[in-house]
Order: sequence, then C-alpha cells, then structure tokens
Amino acid sequence: MRTFFIAAALFLFTAFATVTPAQQTDEQLILKYFHSISSGEIAEWMAEVCSPEFNGRLAGTPEYLAAAEWAAGKMNEWGISPAGDNGSYFQWFDHPYTVVNEVGGLWLHLPQKDEATIKKSYSAPKDFYPGMNSGSGEVTAEVVWVGYGTTAPELNYDDYKNVDVRGKIVLMNRDVPYKDARNPEYSKWVKYCYHQYKAENAARHGAVGMLYIDGNSANPNISYHEDLIVTGIGTEPLADLFAGLGKDNKTLLNQIDKSFKPASFATGRVITMKASTTRHPEGRTCNVAGVIEGTDPELKDEVIIIGAHLDAVGNAGGLLVDGGLDNASGVIDILAAARALATSGIKLRRTVLFLLIGGEEVGLLGSKYYTENPLFPKEKTVTYINLDMVGNGTGLAVSASESCAGLREYFTRANEKYIHRTMRSSVSRGSYYGRPRSDGLVFLAEGYRTMSLSTTDGVKPVFYHLPGDDETAVTPEIMEDVAKMIYLAFIEMANADQLNY
Ligand SMILES: [Zn+2]
Repeated sequence: MRTFFIAAALFLFTAFATVTPAQQTDEQLILKYFHSISSGEIAEWMAEVCSPEFNGRLAGTPEYLAAAEWAAGKMNEWGISPAGDNGSYFQWFDHPYTVVNEVGGLWLHLPQKDEATIKKSYSAPKDFYPGMNSGSGEVTAEVVWVGYGTTAPELNYDDYKNVDVRGKIVLMNRDVPYKDARNPEYSKWVKYCYHQYKAENAARHGAVGMLYIDGNSANPNISYHEDLIVTGIGTEPLADLFAGLGKDNKTLLNQIDKSFKPASFATGRVITMKASTTRHPEGRTCNVAGVIEGTDPELKDEVIIIGAHLDAVGNAGGLLVDGGLDNASGVIDILAAARALATSGIKLRRTVLFLLIGGEEVGLLGSKYYTENPLFPKEKTVTYINLDMVGNGTGLAVSASESCAGLREYFTRANEKYIHRTMRSSVSRGSYYGRPRSDGLVFLAEGYRTMSLSTTDGVKPVFYHLPGDDETAVTPEIMEDVAKMIYLAFIEMANADQLNY
C-alpha cells in the first residue's frame, strides 16, 4: 500500500509537472488582471481628474495639490507604497506661481480724422490669451516689433539694437533665427529660445507690455515680472497691427532667418492691454511617487520608472483648461496599469516606480527636481518611460533612446501577443540641442536611458493648451490598451533574468 501511495504521489507530481500548473496559474492570473483594465473605469477617472474641483491643476495651486492627493489616495488604496519625502507619496519643491483672476482685455487704438480715437476691442481666447505669469494692471503704449526678442552680443545679434522700447509694448515671436535644433551650432542659441528669457529681456529693456506671437494659448512656462503685462496675441489683432504698414510678421521673420539681421521697428500703433493677476511667491508643488518594491533580493535594486506629468495649464480667469489629453491621459494610463500590477499579487522581481510629475507645464520643473534629487540611484535605473498626451487615436507607438533600444521589444511583444493594434517602434538617434520640451528629454540629458509611449492616428480634435482639452478629448479604448501594454511589458521586464537593452 505504501509503495502504491508513493507511486501515485510520484505519478501525480509528474503529471502536474508536465502540464506546469504553476505556469498555467500565472497565465490565468495575468489574464484575469489584464482584463480588469477597462475603458469604462478609465473614462470615470478621466472625468475625476478633469473635474472643476482641480481647476486645471496649475502647479503651485491648492487645486493641483488636491489632484496630487487624489492620485496618492488611489495608490494607497491599491497597496502601492509611498516613495516620496519622509514616508509620504510627495516629493516637494518650491514653486512661486501666478493666478489669473480675469481674462483682462486687448484694444487697438484707431485714430480718426477728427482727432478722436476709436478703440477696437478683442475677445479671448479667439484673439488673445491672457499671460499666465503676467504682471497685473493696465498699460496703453505704442507697439514696437522686436522680431525674436533676443539680445545675443556674442552672436552679434540684437533685436533691441536700433529701437527704444522703454515704456512701450513689445511684439515678438517665439524661438530664434537659427532653426536646426539637431545641429550642435544650435547650442549657442538655445538659451534665447526660452519663454522665460524673452520676458526677462523685454523687462530688462524697460518694456511695459509684451504681445507674444506664440500660438495664442495658455502658457504658464514664462517668467514673471511685476511691471510687465503679457498677452498671447491671435491672428486678427496681429493682422490689424500690420495693416497698411506694407510688411507682415512672416515676411520679416523669413528675412531675419536668412540674413541674421534684426528688422525691429516702431509700428506707430497704440494698444491698451489689461491684466488682473495675483502672484504667490510662497508656492510649493510636488511630484507624486509610488513604488512596488521588487521581490528578488538582488534584482530589486534595479528600478523601472514610468512617469507622466500630472499638472496642467490651469484656469485663466474663466478660460479653464482641464488638461484631458495633456496629460490626464498619461497619468491614468499609468494608474490603470499600476492598479492591475499592484492588486494582482503577481510577483515583480525588479522594483517599479510610478512617478506623477508636477510642474511640467511651468518649465519641466518636476523632472528637473527628480533628476537632481533622485529617489532611487540613477545607475540602477533600468529606464525612464515618459507618457505625455497618450490617449487619442487607434495606433500605438514606442520610441527609445539608443541606449535602451532593445527594451522596446517588451512592448511590441505585448502588443503582438495580446493587444493587436498597429504599432510603430523607433529609436531616437543623435542629439537634440533645442529647448527640451518633455520630461523624457530632461531625463535623457541627465544620462538616463529613456523611452516614450504614445498613441497614433488621432481621431479627435486636439485643443492644445486651450479650453476643450477636457475628458472628452481622449479615446478611452486606446487608453485601456496602453495600460494593458504597460501591464504586460512590466511583468516581463520586471521578471527577466537579464534585460535585453
Ligand atoms: Zn504635456
């Protein structure tokens, strides 16, 4: 009898071993939580993150902090551990900010024959967008066109050289005359293409107003100067300013781009600008960091970071930008994957850090702060994966820096096996010398291996930094698939004996 039992036990053991029940259970568990990620819930979270309560999540505001607490609360609920300061989910840094109280106004003075003046009034957001870091007050002055608003003596280029803008309103464009950001030559110009610099330089030259030709949308990524009223200017007032002058903005810029010779001039036109803002020098903001610690005694020191900026561009006196596509989408893609990973109980041998970045829209401050004060050692960080505006379209894409080109395969394989979307995969080669415009580029510049996930073949109109970018600006179905792809790829990446870079 005893022999029989042993034989039976051996037989059963062998039988189980050949059908690999452990693996089967793993696969079932993986599939169960794969299917727990749903577009319905994603749509609900989109509505929550875009709710009026968070008021456009401008970095520094109490409403941004409320959104950060919302996200930390979710992580806590799912058993994701805090990875921020002093055992909290928050990594704090100082950030003075500005609240725009009213949209303000913009008027062009039209002198009449009888010495009377008619003021043509413009409306926001069609014709102008209030400066998100504008000083407060009202100015009436002549407008001086100053090209790119740049003073670069070492490059023998100065838009302010032959004009006096003291007490005047300057009208200027974004960027610089040198255009090739992939050429090392660009590094000489890069400091002049920051919005911060342009406003600073205008204030330094004594201008009292700045009309910025910059897409006429919300831009909190600009410096604050108490005595400088700033407004984004749209197509119609710009055309009105140039009417009858025999030149136009575009032709002048083309000339400068070819000759590198400034063409600044006083327009003779008078404008009134009005802004109502409140400055908060005491402002602070934060990144939100949650971690699933690895289970392997050695591999757990290696960290995979996935990040998305949680802040958006705020509410300019009633012009509310909820930041739906930009970037509640990236945040919620991450949270949906994070919950499935955390609640499934699936073992992850490496550590996974979920990083919701604060202060992207105000100058990539959250990613700069993280790279200067990393929560995990850089040398042990496998990759930083960035998600920004990932939720509009029918296709998927993954892009990686040359240093981790091989890691793309964990994502393309997940798509091929389970998701079946059209998917692009690319490697970003070479260097970029321009103004960094994503958190991913900040990490790359600091020597991290970086990747980005995105969606392609957009099906919805994009309201970039404009009212309209709310929870309806995304496709929840593609967000579900992005989250599923992250979930599957992370299970593989976290558990591989050796990572294939
Ligand atoms: Zn963004």
